[in-house]
Amino acid sequence: MSINLLDFNAKALAGFCAGIGEKPFRAKQLLRWIHRSGEADFASMSDLAKGLREKLSAGAMIEPPRLVSDHTATDGTRKWLLSVGSGNGIETVFIPETSRGTLCISSQVGCALACTFCSTGRQGFNRNLTVAEIIGQLWWANKALAEEFGGALRSRAVTNVVMMGMGEPLANFENVVTALDLMLDDNAYGLSRRRVTVSTSGLVPAMDRLRERCPVALAVSLHAPNDALRDQLVPINRKYPIGELLAACQRYLQSAPRDFITFEYVMLDGINDTVAHARELVQLVQHTPCKFNLIPFNPFHNSGYRRSSSETVHRFRDVLVQAGLITTVRKTRGDDIDAACGQLAGKVHDKTRRTSRGILEAAR
Ligand code: SAH
Ligand code: SF4
Repeated sequence: MSINLLDFNAKALAGFCAGIGEKPFRAKQLLRWIHRSGEADFASMSDLAKGLREKLSAGAMIEPPRLVSDHTATDGTRKWLLSVGSGNGIETVFIPETSRGTLCISSQVGCALACTFCSTGRQGFNRNLTVAEIIGQLWWANKALAEEFGGALRSRAVTNVVMMGMGEPLANFENVVTALDLMLDDNAYGLSRRRVTVSTSGLVPAMDRLRERCPVALAVSLHAPNDALRDQLVPINRKYPIGELLAACQRYLQSAPRDFITFEYVMLDGINDTVAHARELVQLVQHTPCKFNLIPFNPFHNSGYRRSSSETVHRFRDVLVQAGLITTVRKTRGDDIDAACGQLAGKVHDKTRRTSRGILEAAR
């Protein structure tokens, strides 16, 4: 069976090269070809000896997920649907802004954590993505954006990566961390730890492991100011309640590239969005250096929730701001192509009552 070199970080690629009797610098060359130049064909890797190219072609491959569709929203947000086999699809979203371009990457097909307001959670869990499927999203985006902007791959449009697509990244720990290695590697994507963010619903032991292994910026999906409410919205809270979660945030901050944790808070009409909730939140996080990102709920079919009105969101924000907490309200982007938070792979599934298989069928 052919080995997919997109599954390897620098260390694994060096091991692979040693295994076929090649010097370590070959691994560096390969890494650059694959990730910096976006090259998938060994024959085009001009500075590799012909014998090596032939050896690689015989026993290895560079296989990203297959591109199924590519949509651009009226606000410039771009969404790619990639096939990961067996009828499964994943979505990757690029959000261009004036001074940066953020790519939102998926880590799993579906998600087992079943947050009640999340359409990925409603699908249930299908499987973890491989390293090639995770890093392949960045690989594709860089290629496609270089074409769009006519620039060399080196002057990248993707300046930031957020692991906020489908799935819980820390539930696919090893593959996500190996993909993070590549994002940070100067011979691959060369992003700084501050520009790569993992978002978690609060898997406490894995937060500690991430801190030791690869402390990138951290976002935590809080969504409620107390355990009773969070137990309902984010069921993993029953296992790792808020007290433990905040303690893990404190530990994380000792190694984090930024001196705050970002708390994400989805605004659900009449559920978690009152001034009383905001005040309770202020109390809750008083000893945790943090910023808040309020996310207006993105509705999907049969969700059972409504988005808070903008007045309610602003009132809520004002309470946090008056308490000295830096708070942003996430602008909803890519609405017209269903690319907003929590909408990925949403609609089709709800119509078909199947997993993300439906997306691919709909895309054909
Ligand atoms: N599993 C991780 C990362 C993926 S979700 C996590 O939960 O943090 C990325 C963010 O989108 C999370 O904060 C999540 O709670 C939020 N989200 C999920 N569904 C949403 C929806 N329908 N509307 C708005 N935000 C949503
Ligand atoms: Fe999974 Fe995150 Fe959705 Fe919760 S919000 S179900 S953890 S993807």
